[in-house]
Amino acid sequence: MQDPRCELPAAGAGLLPHVLVLGTGGTIAGVAPPANTATGAGYTAGVLGVEQLLASAPGIAQQARLEFEQLCNIDSKDANPALWLQLAREVRAWRARAGTAGCVITHGSDTLEETAYALDCLLEPGSPVVLTAAMLPAAALSADGPRNLFDAVRVAGDPAAAGRGVLCVAHGRVHAARDVSKQHPARIDAFASGERGPLGFIGASGLRFTREQPGVEPRPLAGLALPSPEMAAPRVELVCSHAGADGELVRALVAASVAGTLRPPLHALVVLGTGGGTVHEGLAAALDQAAEAGVRVQVVPRTGPCEGGDFDGLNAVKVRVRLLLEALLEARSGA
Ligand code: ASP
Repeated sequence: MQDPRCELPAAGAGLLPHVLVLGTGGTIAGVAPPANTATGAGYTAGVLGVEQLLASAPGIAQQARLEFEQLCNIDSKDANPALWLQLAREVRAWRARAGTAGCVITHGSDTLEETAYALDCLLEPGSPVVLTAAMLPAAALSADGPRNLFDAVRVAGDPAAAGRGVLCVAHGRVHAARDVSKQHPARIDAFASGERGPLGFIGASGLRFTREQPGVEPRPLAGLALPSPEMAAPRVELVCSHAGADGELVRALVAASVAGTLRPPLHALVVLGTGGGTVHEGLAAALDQAAEAGVRVQVVPRTGPCEGGDFDGLNAVKVRVRLLLEALLEARSGA
């Protein structure tokens, strides 16, 4: 079989950091209908190959010796845990090779925070792993993809970015996977890191970190063997407490799970609670029944990230990622 990985030649390549760029799709690889090229309206995500993205970023080949591979080309709304596992496997293999510096992953913005946090759980802090995205498709006026990719390659090749966990680079900011989330559906500066703010900045004057990442704690999942991406992920669903939340949805899920008609069965529920994590009395009664049936129930605030405890700083979708990965890797190791 032909090796799908290709290399981009660069002048003085021997002196440059060796960076792997993995393409997965997203708006950064998006193409609009010809009549809308300038605005990008009505574009389709995940069309251009990663080689074309690199070719559209002038000077990028002078930043690093680039190797690249197209893992998939999707709209990230359709991402799944199999992709997280595939990416984690690629990065672990890349890191095991001598002389490699870092890794960039081009990704859709919609679920970037889920993939970034999944990788943060599955990888030792080690050499830089940087996700990047774009809010405008590749050929739109002022497209942000080429600059974001250029910046991401610079960060991935910089030893100062090592040991900080998985990073996200967009709009001149460097975010920690744990903190970052997409905050706006269309603005170029769609990503933010809540009250903690970004870890640093990348721009004309280079890479500058302005704070340490408090979340670089031991990662119990990072040392475990990865299951094959084909292994069915445990079912972890999100439900929301709101006015009139009577819990019938949860009762139906649990009943189907117990009856064996829901496959895979329900492993856990992440519940977006009101305020700091309160739950409507109707839903609370259903959650008690779910817990009695062996379903793990984790309530998180719907007003923002968790504060304190095991999930400190994580929003609801990231708590879901963590519960899913913990269950998947436990099932894999037979614990
Ligand atoms: N729907 C796109 C995606 O997540 C949005 C983007 O990349 O900005 O793939």
